[in-house]
Amino acid sequence: MSRLVRSTRQPQSPGFTLVELLVVVSIIALLLALLTPTLSRAREMTKSVACRSNLHQMGNGLQTYLATYKYYPGGHTAGGVGTYVVWAPRIRMYCGYNSELFNCPVAPAIQRWKTVIDPALNLPKRWGYLANERPLYWNTPFSYGYNNWGQGQDFSQPQWGLGGYAEWRIQGNAEDWDALEASRVRVPADMIAVGDSKSEGVWDAFIDPQPGEVREWPNDPHLQKSNILFCDAHVETLAIAELVDPFTNDHGKSRWNNDNQRH
Ligand SMILES: [Zn+2]
Repeated sequence: MSRLVRSTRQPQSPGFTLVELLVVVSIIALLLALLTPTLSRAREMTKSVACRSNLHQMGNGLQTYLATYKYYPGGHTAGGVGTYVVWAPRIRMYCGYNSELFNCPVAPAIQRWKTVIDPALNLPKRWGYLANERPLYWNTPFSYGYNNWGQGQDFSQPQWGLGGYAEWRIQGNAEDWDALEASRVRVPADMIAVGDSKSEGVWDAFIDPQPGEVREWPNDPHLQKSNILFCDAHVETLAIAELVDPFTNDHGKSRWNNDNQRH
């Protein structure tokens, strides 16, 4: 008898029961479920801040370009075989030739601009590119787009954006399709310059607001928002509906046009 009593007083095993274990596991799972969206949202926010910083630095480069040349850099060369993107390398001249600045942090590798020098190209230093640098073509995947035509269509007269062709007055008329005189932008703080762009290999380096051209609209990769650089170098984070809604947003429309009017 005395032996039996002693054995019942022995301390229990220090481990968890199955129920306790299940409770702990469920609490951990619940905490993870609560934390994961917060963490991924924080990660996305960080990328958006880095994108805004890229655009702001481009804006500073653009300011220096304008102070130097009195014209906007122009969108691209005027057609023909090998249409080059020109706005990006011309702004890059005043950003320490840092191509990495022109890559949105969410962009996949194929859309990223790297400086590649290839003597076999046999190209002069031109359009903001270095000698023998591989140029960006109209169909090179790219993550930022330039507001070349504004609310006007290609070849509309006068052009409403920052200018399509990079040549200066090739038509001999400032109303034509060439690079735009800086003074033509009526409200630089309310004129879209560069923004996140949809990348599908067709005019990626340009953004347009035309209702029928959804694939040319800005991209919204930052928690359904788009980062947009304005001509005075400030950056805003906007929803697509604030930029291109064809029916309701008159202010959004006017911001695409150098006369600051909707068309
Ligand atoms: Zn971005």
